[in-house]
Amino acid sequence: MKGIGVSPGIAIGKAFILKKTEAVSSGILLSSKAEVLLEIERFDRAINRAVDEIEAIKTERQLSLSNEDLAVLETQIELITDPQVKSDVIEKIETDKKNANDALIEVIANFVDLFENMDDEYMQARSADIKDVGDLILKQLVGQAKSPIPKFEPHTIIIAQDISPSDTITMDTSHVTGFATQAGSKTSHTAIIAKSKGIPAVVGCGPELGKILNNDAVIVDGINGLIYINPAQEIIDDYTIKRAAYKQLEGELKSLKDKPAITTDGKKITLSANISDADDMEKAFENGGEGVGLLRTELLFMDRDSFPTENEQFEFYKVVALRSRNKPVIVRTIDIGGDKHLPYFNLPVELNPFLGYRAIRICLDRKDLFITQLKAILRASVFGDLKIMFPMISNVQEIRSAKNILEEAKAELLKQQVAFNADIKIGIMIEIPSAAITADILAKEIDFFSIGTNDLCQYTLAVDRMNEKISHLYDPFNPGVLRLISNVIEQGHKNNVHVGMCGEMASDPMATLLLLGMGLDDFSMSAASIPGIKSIIIKNNMAKAKEIYKTVMEMDSSEKITAYLQEVMQ
Ligand code: PEP
Ligand code: MG
Repeated sequence: MKGIGVSPGIAIGKAFILKKTEAVSSGILLSSKAEVLLEIERFDRAINRAVDEIEAIKTERQLSLSNEDLAVLETQIELITDPQVKSDVIEKIETDKKNANDALIEVIANFVDLFENMDDEYMQARSADIKDVGDLILKQLVGQAKSPIPKFEPHTIIIAQDISPSDTITMDTSHVTGFATQAGSKTSHTAIIAKSKGIPAVVGCGPELGKILNNDAVIVDGINGLIYINPAQEIIDDYTIKRAAYKQLEGELKSLKDKPAITTDGKKITLSANISDADDMEKAFENGGEGVGLLRTELLFMDRDSFPTENEQFEFYKVVALRSRNKPVIVRTIDIGGDKHLPYFNLPVELNPFLGYRAIRICLDRKDLFITQLKAILRASVFGDLKIMFPMISNVQEIRSAKNILEEAKAELLKQQVAFNADIKIGIMIEIPSAAITADILAKEIDFFSIGTNDLCQYTLAVDRMNEKISHLYDPFNPGVLRLISNVIEQGHKNNVHVGMCGEMASDPMATLLLLGMGLDDFSMSAASIPGIKSIIIKNNMAKAKEIYKTVMEMDSSEKITAYLQEVMQ
């Protein structure tokens, strides 16, 4: 059976069918005003009790709950106390004379319907959270005692229509080795929790999953999104070997968390994380990240209807700084335009938005917006080791103008007697070919470079990074791109400038030794990619990396380069 693999790993075990009883309406109507008042009061009490129950879980299990679990519980409390749900239920009680149970069942069904029909996959997945919250309140209304938590035998694989947030948190998963559900998507709750607990899971298997009976032998292949029911012995044997290999690899990567990324001949490499909000910071540290090589600030400007104020931005950067454990955090100034639009900022319609009014170009044109962001970052710089990075730099004049505005921001803060780090380090992204070619000139202006290969590839090769039709041409191993990268690192080092990379190429295992050979100082990537890249660095030495670099630079095509890298990286 094919589904969506949402939590990697392999589970072999026995099925446990987790069934839910559907709530049904009684149809009983209220006949007096007094009954209406009593019913509203009963509903209010049920909400309070449902919140109390969650608070009790938080207190009783505080030591065993992960950050993800706590976030789920907080969201549940928010949904239970949601004013819209409450007013809709009360309206049905008052106007339609429905009893509280029926009113709640109807309101929740409407919300579930609304969310299920949204275009956004993430929002669709939230319908399960709402249904779950409805069940929690209903349980209080019908006075149901806490349902007994099932005790699972070792090697249990949970088979369900869907798994709700409260199921996963209240159930003892110590014997659960896998999850398979009929519903769900990559962002569904089952996916999030399974991943955080490291339990293999396949979701979205469809109604066919209903064929499985309790105690059937089941294999969950969370890597390829496959489910096997009562498989033949050879398949079980084959998967037993695969499971052991996967576990070994997983263990190896986990054990690297606190090891520094040092080659066998002693060269220390910094591995940092690309993040877009403060919560990502924990994931970065959990995976052994040594700081943040790229904080994309765009998220802070999205999903709102006006620009965030200096104070709102300050609060955000301050939280990031406070959570950074004094490790360096590179804050990139806003990179809007191109494919990133803000609903409240009327960007012009352009023929070539990626070559248009975007990033630093907007900031230099709209000094008011830029200075607000710079002041907010400067103010937060007293709470951690923040650095500032300008995106989309194409010439030296842009750096000088940006630095002048930064000086103005500092002068304003001085005048206002607000503290900031006057020596804050400044860097630029190298993502436009002219910047890569003139790295020797630009290096004299700043403290660090960060190579943005995502855009550098698109501009060097004239390949729109969003266009699937020409994606085969989007190739970081093109000798043209590699020469630019190599020049940036060489010129950076000649000028005592630290050189990092925050584009996707930094997380490509095929590129690791090549980049190491070029002398790259800092690799920044999504937190989950860090252990894999570290495992390559610590098993190799600089002599080998330099040899690979030398060989690659003498090759004339990406085909030869990738074939060679595949061979040496095997
Ligand atoms: C890049 O261009 O490589 C980069 C890291 O920036 P973004 O992907 O945000 O454009
Ligand atoms: Mg970019």
